[in-house]
Amino acid sequence: MLNWLLGSTTSGADIYVDLGTANTLIVGRGRGLILNEPSEVMVSDIDPKKRKILGLGLEGREILKKNPGHIIVIKPIKDGVIADFDATRVMLKTFLSKAIKKISLSRPKVVVSLPYGITDVEKRAVTEACRSAGASKTFLIDEPMAAALGAGLPVKGATGQMIIDIGGGSTEIAVIALADIVFCEPLRLGGHKFDEIIVRYLKETKKLIVTDQQAEFLKLKLATALPKKNIITETIQGRDLDTGFQKTETISSEDIGMALSDSIQQIIHGILNALENTPPELVSDIIDSGITLAGGGALIKELCAKIESEVRIPVRLAENPLTAIAIGGEMVLSDPELLEKIQIEL
Ligand code: ADP
Ligand code: MG
Repeated sequence: MLNWLLGSTTSGADIYVDLGTANTLIVGRGRGLILNEPSEVMVSDIDPKKRKILGLGLEGREILKKNPGHIIVIKPIKDGVIADFDATRVMLKTFLSKAIKKISLSRPKVVVSLPYGITDVEKRAVTEACRSAGASKTFLIDEPMAAALGAGLPVKGATGQMIIDIGGGSTEIAVIALADIVFCEPLRLGGHKFDEIIVRYLKETKKLIVTDQQAEFLKLKLATALPKKNIITETIQGRDLDTGFQKTETISSEDIGMALSDSIQQIIHGILNALENTPPELVSDIIDSGITLAGGGALIKELCAKIESEVRIPVRLAENPLTAIAIGGEMVLSDPELLEKIQIEL
């Protein structure tokens, strides 16, 4: 804030990293998207303590496909916190080095967005990983701010805006005004949890064992916030809980919608809680301007309609929910004044 009042001293930045729990996206100033890979580190299961890294991101997925039996997949950022510091450092350093090489920039200034409310230790680990990848300076910003910018919300204005980013490991419900996060409700809920819930639901209701990957497939095809509407189906081959034999089942959007209904209700509670904790004048702005959803989880069918009917505020989906955060980050790169204003101090 003080920096902002005193005027801008930076000249913007070169590279932005959306360090997501499911996907890491890197954009370059004036270059658009230069990297989009799963936030995953594949290690050998032969001696898990030694943690021999076999691959990361897309390359790691290829290795996993060829040899699924002996690989553990680490998702270093879980539930909106850095769960595995070493894996996060290696992953961030590798991705960033790759991006820097791709656009042949030496000693770039880097902006990284992080889940809201992250600790100083986590911030330092990220800054250090960027430095070791060649960054001359690292700025940290809050994810919900990048999401709001990328979704096209006028964050600099005095009017209150609500942005909800439903990612892989966390959901952030934030109220923004004057380029500040006025309130943020982080929920430890997101796409990965939805997959786990689908696995459990199919086991309990259909005695069908499926993998997390199969559950994600069903979610992408069938997940809906209104289970009774426009029912569609998919067939899937899992294992029978009792016999262990393979069996083919037809799963409907109603099944998946029912499985996810409690989670969707938790998001709705979070929104109501955020509204209760927001100053009344900003709440009336939000009632007028509506709520915006971003992040991969926002792509659950009928989610906008469901939230709208329960919260009674108009809800819209960001144009590109999976890339909105990266688009927002790219906007920050060429706006030094905004970057100074929104950067998180260490
Ligand atoms: P993060 O920012 O945490 O990396 P993303 O915003 O990239 O997360 O979202 C990834 C999550 O979104 C994954 O769990 C993925 O399964 C989920 N997802 C992607 N597309 C859809 C869809 N069409 N319907 C429901 N979930 C989706
Ligand atoms: Mg994200």
